[in-house]
Amino acid sequence: MEKCTNTDCGRPFHVATIGGGVPGGKEREEIHCPHCNHLVRAPMTSACFLVTKPTPEQEAAWIAEQNSN
Ligand SMILES: [Zn+2]
Repeated sequence: MEKCTNTDCGRPFHVATIGGGVPGGKEREEIHCPHCNHLVRAPMTSACFLVTKPTPEQEAAWIAEQNSN
């Protein structure tokens, strides 16, 4: 789980990597928060990223984990 870097949001989301490993095919892939559409990061990669929201249960578990640290 990644965390949105927008301080007004800060919610978690999943990033799944699809494909990749293609030599010389690197492009700038933007990863946007699925909650607020904030640009979280933009790595140079040959892979694609699928960003998805966690379920409410997953988000609650993630928040509980953050608070325990
Ligand atoms: Zn966000």
